[in-house]
Amino acid sequence: SNNLMVGKRGLIMGLANDKSIAWGIAKALGEAGAELAFSYQGEALKKRVGPLAATLGADTLIECDVADETSIDTLFDTLKEKWGKLDFVVHAIGFSDKNELRGRYVDTSRDNFTMTMDISVYSFTAVCARASALMSDGGSLLTLTYYGAEQVMPHYNVMGVAKAALEASVKYIAEDLGKDGIRCNAISAGPIKTLAASGIGDFRYIMKWNELNSPLRRNVTQEEVGKAALYLLSDLGSGTTGETLHVDAGYHVVGMKAVDAPDI
Ligand code: NAD
Repeated sequence: SNNLMVGKRGLIMGLANDKSIAWGIAKALGEAGAELAFSYQGEALKKRVGPLAATLGADTLIECDVADETSIDTLFDTLKEKWGKLDFVVHAIGFSDKNELRGRYVDTSRDNFTMTMDISVYSFTAVCARASALMSDGGSLLTLTYYGAEQVMPHYNVMGVAKAALEASVKYIAEDLGKDGIRCNAISAGPIKTLAASGIGDFRYIMKWNELNSPLRRNVTQEEVGKAALYLLSDLGSGTTGETLHVDAGYHVVGMKAVDAPDI
């Protein structure tokens, strides 16, 4: 434990259960002394999020569906009333029709393309605009992305296109808000077994592939993503903005893993 986040208040968006990447991040921040608020999607998730938040001493739970502008407004109005100012936001939200997270990207429907971009990309921009208005002493904004933004990965399809747009938006937001002392970054996490990931075709095989082919020869944990988030959200990351930080056991640097090649 450390005191890196003592005196800092922030919002965690995207906690669904104790497997969520948001949970790994929330634990690292809570243990470092941050005061946390949580937003959750729909009443059904409140039963899950409430007890988890309570273990970190947090009791501010606010419903927010990021597909709905008034819902985002209500979230930030509530935080403004409660805290007045905000130091950080974690956006750990993504969504696409799971029928299109298999098969060919080229078959993506217009409706699902639009919906995926709206929830997985635009929502971060909408959140950053509202959050930055409360960051009177500067702040740090963080979202989650995946290697499928950079290179083609099996079944990731429209979500890869959305993550590419999300990573580009991180850079534009970093430039817009940098003069106000607000930083904006992404973590590109390696595959982790979560509710959202289970919608991706052959996800178990993708995890195995990463385990066998990454430089560290293993997968990463929610806790490791949490530690990287602590760096980006605390003063440790004060010189870093517009960045996509890979927490993927090094997978993204490998072109071809060394093997005992046969004589040819
Ligand atoms: P998860 O299922 O635990 O979290 C996804 C969250 O998105 C859920 O809490 C869900 O309620 C929320 N959400 C979806 N639609 C929403 C909406 N309209 N309004 C509000 N919330 C909404 O899964 P996760 O893997 O922890 O996902 C978190 C983030 O991490 C996502 O952006 C995901 O793409 C990214 N990511 C995941 C992996 C992985 O392998 N699990 C790897 C890299 C990046």
